[in-house]
Amino acid sequence: MSLLNSKEKEYLLSKIRDVKDFPKPGIVFKDITTLLKDKDAFNFLIEHLYNYYKDRDIDYVAGIESRGFIFGAALANRLKVSFTPIRKKGKLPYTTISEKYALEYGFDEVEIHIDAFEGEKSNPNVLLIDDLIATGGTAKASIDLINKAGAKCSDACFIINLTFLEGTKNLDKNCEIYSVLEIV
Ligand code: AMP
Repeated sequence: MSLLNSKEKEYLLSKIRDVKDFPKPGIVFKDITTLLKDKDAFNFLIEHLYNYYKDRDIDYVAGIESRGFIFGAALANRLKVSFTPIRKKGKLPYTTISEKYALEYGFDEVEIHIDAFEGEKSNPNVLLIDDLIATGGTAKASIDLINKAGAKCSDACFIINLTFLEGTKNLDKNCEIYSVLEIV
């Protein structure tokens, strides 16, 4: 399990574009498309995550719609493990189970296929991944969903953690959290 030094973190941070007032006034959107566009930076990140997780006995990587799919699928393939998508309500075609979570105004819901973790191993280890954790609502619901679906969410990874929002505070304590880049 190797960590990045400050130069490496600065390098990755420099590849992420801040877009002010998107999708609404007051939000600084962390745009990771600029990191993906840089093939060396994208490869460096995936190789780092591979080295970080290769000895953690991960069976599945679960990515949160939609940017979690990009990092999740690349990492799952590198680790030679399965990938499963966690999607917003109504997008998955087969029978699903779901988990609701509160937004600033109202609710949202994430879903997973009921047989997402059916396979050779019972109660497989799952690594959840998303591009960013803000309040932690989406990640908490996703971890709960994975555990409800007959697997164990052993790890959760975020490329960016907006630490001032303390989003990791309410996540399952049995889940190991790793944030690659922290914004204080
Ligand atoms: P939350 O549930 O509040 O932790 O929000 C996390 C989800 O919203 C992730 O899927 C992020 O991709 C997205 N998100 C929230 N805030 C931002 C932001 N400032 N920049 C980019 N994505 C964000």
